[in-house]
This record gives sequence, C-alpha cells and structure tokens, in this order.
Amino acid sequence: MNVEKIRADFPILSTTVYGKPLIYLDNGATTQKPKCVVEEIEKIYYTTNANVHRGVHHLSQVATDLAEESRIVVQQFINAEHSKEIIFTKGTTESINLVAHSFCQQFCSEGDEIIISAMEHHANIVSWQLQETIRGIKLRVIPINDKGELMLDEMKKLITPRTRLISVMHVSNVLGTINPIEEIVSIAHSHDIPVLIDAAQSVQHIEIDVQKLDCDFLVFSGHKLYGPNGVGVLYGKEKWLNQMPPYQGGGEMISQVSFKKTTFNDLPFKFEAGTPNYPDVIALAKAIDYIKSIGLDSIKAYEDQLLKYCTDELTKINNIRIFGTSDNKCSVVSFLVGNIHHYDMGMLLDKMGIAVRTGHHCAQPLMEELGIEGTVRASFAFYNTKEEIDKFIEGVKRVVTMFE
Ligand code: PMP
Repeated sequence: MNVEKIRADFPILSTTVYGKPLIYLDNGATTQKPKCVVEEIEKIYYTTNANVHRGVHHLSQVATDLAEESRIVVQQFINAEHSKEIIFTKGTTESINLVAHSFCQQFCSEGDEIIISAMEHHANIVSWQLQETIRGIKLRVIPINDKGELMLDEMKKLITPRTRLISVMHVSNVLGTINPIEEIVSIAHSHDIPVLIDAAQSVQHIEIDVQKLDCDFLVFSGHKLYGPNGVGVLYGKEKWLNQMPPYQGGGEMISQVSFKKTTFNDLPFKFEAGTPNYPDVIALAKAIDYIKSIGLDSIKAYEDQLLKYCTDELTKINNIRIFGTSDNKCSVVSFLVGNIHHYDMGMLLDKMGIAVRTGHHCAQPLMEELGIEGTVRASFAFYNTKEEIDKFIEGVKRVVTMFE
C-alpha cells in the first residue's frame, strides 16, 4: 500500500478546514472520490451523453454499451453468475425497498414473518415496517450480545414455518461487527429461507463472492465504494427476481404496453423503470476498477491495522466506552467519553479539521438497546494514515481536557 500515492488520487484530502488539514474519518457515511471517477463523469457529459437503450444514434449506442459494460464490471466484482442479476438502483436504501416491496407482494401474506437484527440500519428496518402496514407481515428481531455480536442461537429460535426471508447487515455501521453471514445463509437455507445481505458497509472492505456465499440478495451503494452518489446495486438470484413483480412502472421496464394488457421486460430491465442514472452507473465501474487495482485484501489488511491502532489508543483514555468489542470488526469505532455529549465531541473535533460522525447513525433501535442516544464514530478508509489517527486521538484528549 503506497498511501501517499493513493492520497494524491483524492484531491479533497489535501484541502483544509478552518485552516487545518482535513482529517476525514467519516468514510462510513460516504467515501471520497478518486480523480478517475470524477473525470469519468465529466468525460461522459462532455463526450458521450445520450439516453441509454433508446436511440439508434451513435451517442446513445456508445452510452448504452458503457452502461452495460459497467453491469458486467459489477457482476465480476461480486462474482454473480449472470449480469442480468445486477439491478442498478439509487442506492442501498432503494435496493432494500425494492426487495421488500416486490418480494413481499409475491411471497408474503398476512402473518408471514421477516427476520432482521437489532443492529440494522433504518433502511433495513423501515422498508419492512412499511410492509407490516401494507401486508400484515411481522418482523422478528435477532438480539445482540454485550460485544455487539448477533446471537445466532436466538436467531434459530425465531425461525418458524411462517419465516419468509432473513435480512441482515454484513458489517454494522455503528459497532463495526462483521456478522457471520456464511453461517446465517447456511442456517436459513437449511429451512429453505432466502437471505438478503446489506453490504453497504462491507463491499468496500471485504471481498464478496455471492455464488460462494450463496446469498439470495445483496445490496450496496456506489457512494460508500469510492464511486458516485445516486447509484447503487441490487444483486438477486435470477430465480427470485424472475418471480418478483416490478417495483416501479414506466419506460424501459415494459415489453408491450396497451390499455388492455401490459407485459414486462426481461431482467434486469424489469426493475429499472425510467431513464437510469447512466453517467454514475458508468463511473461506478471506474471506482470498482480503482479498488481492484489496489486489491481488497491489501485494503482490508491496512484498514485492520488502522482500526487496531485507533482502538488501542482510544482504550487508554479514561472513562471511554467503546461500543462494539467483537474480535471480528471492520473499519469502524464508536465511542463516548464520560458524560461528554457526542455532538460536543464532534463539533470540537470539527474545529480541529477532523470529520467524524455523531448521533444515532440511522440505528435508533440499536441505540435504545445500548441505552444511549448516540455515539461518536470514526470510520476508516485505505487513504487514512496512522498520523491522522494520532491527530484524532490528540483531538479527543484535548476535548476531554476542556470538559474536565
Ligand atoms: N445500510 C447500512 C449498513 C448503511 O451503513 C447505510 C448508510 N449509512 C445504508 C444501509 C443506507 O445507504 P444509502 O443511504 O446509501 O442508501
């Protein structure tokens, strides 16, 4: 890992905030973009902009080819069997909403159950709650232990003949826990229950092979993967996607429209109504190529070092509470010190040029479980350095002294 060289690819990392060099530790919220991604977006608008899948003219065909090549880049990135199993969406949230809506419409009736977990992001809670209201399904919740790990024995007890799907996150955006998704898929499949994996916080850190994992759905966002905002991915096994009805109606998702009867397009277009966000879809492929050029194994090994170093240093601070102490963690550390409010800590760190996340991190049920309102969260990327962590720790200590 040549971090200095990598940092040069991210112009924002050499900017200042309040006259201090920016230390960006909010990568769990969104990642910064390398030049190649931003340049690709500019290039598309300046040289190849045309609506995709519609025109016979040259530009439309070039744009269509690029967007479809991007689908193959994503397919290979997660090793899906077919490119038609890759659906482009706005992001993780839309991907989960799509599955919740279309899967429940096809496969769930009143009283059927969906299992999620106590550590889920609101996207993987509220999407299902909407289906509770619409279809009378019921949510069952896997509890967590003191270390912030899923209790799989409890999960087994939640499975009933009415369980239709298990939907869990791979890596927690608050606790950093890497959940044992292989085991979850294996338990679920032994009961013929499909599994959705929310990979919003994992796909940028951990290599994922959907065929090996054998999950039924996997979702993630481009913007957390060093790619553009406004584009995301839903991977779904063909057998499920083929049976599920469309999520939205409009152009491109149809085969034939008449006032008597409308028929729908094949996969993946059945789930991509309207003009897709093709510039960002195309640029997402650049982000994936960029990550691949560094290598997820190297990225994970380097980020693990940062996480360990930061956790060790934080642990030395008096009255610190770290939320999420599993041995199997990834790139995120959440904490509180004494009675210092997380907003105060975040605001004062900001004045030192240090960007961290504060609040409930869109996981209010988890906060309730932990008996807190929010945490301070530092989340790392491969462009962060040990020196930045030193400054962050120094910053946290300064805030602590201010409150003493
Ligand atoms: N799931 C998890 C685990 C997340 O961390 C996030 C983003 N914080 C989401 C879902 C939602 O992602 P997006 O806002 O990009 O749709």
